[in-house]
Amino acid sequence: MREIDVKLITEKIRDLCMEANTDLGEDMDHAFDRAIEREESPMGLEILKELKENARIAKEEKVPICQDTGFAVVFIELGQDVHLVGGDLSAAIHEGVRRGYRDGYLRKSICHPFTRANTGDNTPAIIHTEVVPGEKVKIIVAPKGGGSENMSRVVMLTPSDGIAGVKRFVVERVKESGSNPCPPTIIGIGIGGTFEQAALLAKKSLLRPLGSKNPDPELDQLESGILTDINQLGIGPQGLGGRITSLAVHILMMPCHIASFPLAVNIQCHAQRHKEAVI
Ligand code: SF4
Repeated sequence: MREIDVKLITEKIRDLCMEANTDLGEDMDHAFDRAIEREESPMGLEILKELKENARIAKEEKVPICQDTGFAVVFIELGQDVHLVGGDLSAAIHEGVRRGYRDGYLRKSICHPFTRANTGDNTPAIIHTEVVPGEKVKIIVAPKGGGSENMSRVVMLTPSDGIAGVKRFVVERVKESGSNPCPPTIIGIGIGGTFEQAALLAKKSLLRPLGSKNPDPELDQLESGILTDINQLGIGPQGLGGRITSLAVHILMMPCHIASFPLAVNIQCHAQRHKEAVI
C-alpha cells in the first residue's frame, strides 16, 4: 500500500488548471494545420490561422486561450493500492481548483443556478473518480466552456433507430448549434449505458488525442462518416461559412439495456483543453 498525501493532489490540480487554460497541446496545433490545408473559404482560412496564432500567444505568454476558462472538470483514476492521507480527497481537489484559478488569474465562471451569484473561486469542481488497479493516481483537468456545453444533449433513442438514428441526431445537433459552440468543434459522442453514463462517455471521449484512431474499427468508420456529414453543413470556422465545422468526432460505446438506446453528444469548442499528471 502506497501512501499519498492529498496536499500533493491539490498542488498538481492547481498547476494543471493553469497549464490546461494556457496550453492547448500539440494535437490541437496539428489539427489546426490539417484544417488550414483543407479549408477553402478565405474567411474560414483566416479564422483558423487566427486560432492557431491565438493558441501560440497563449502558450508563450501564459495567458488564457479563451476568456471563458470553464468549469473545472476533474477525472481521477485512483489506484486501489493507494492510501490517501492528510485529508479529504474532494476537498483537496476543490482547493487545487481554487488556487489554480486564483494564481492563474483565470475567470471565475461558476454561479448559483437561481440567483446567479458567483461562487467566487470557480468551485465546486466536477469530479469523476474511478478506482483502477495499481498504486498511482492519475489526474486529468479538463476545463469546459459554457458555450459549447450548452449545445450538448442526451437523448434516449429507440433501439430501432440504429446507427442511422445516431448519425441523424448528431448531425442535426451540430446543425442546430450553428456558431454557438465556437466552431471548429470536436464532437464527443457517448453511446449506450444509461442516461447519465452516456453523458460521461461523451465527455470522456473528448480526452482522446486528436488525430488518433478509434481502436474499434466499426466506431472509427462511424466517426469518419459523421465527420464528413458535419463538414458538409457549411457552418465553418466560427459559423462564418466553410468546410471545417468540426475537427474530429470521437465515440465511446458500451452495452445498454435491451429496451434502451442512450445517446449523448458533448460538443467541445476549439478551446479543447485538458492536461494530466500521474503521481
Ligand atoms: S465555447 Fe469555448 S471558445 Fe467559445 S467562449 Fe466558451 S470556452 Fe471560449
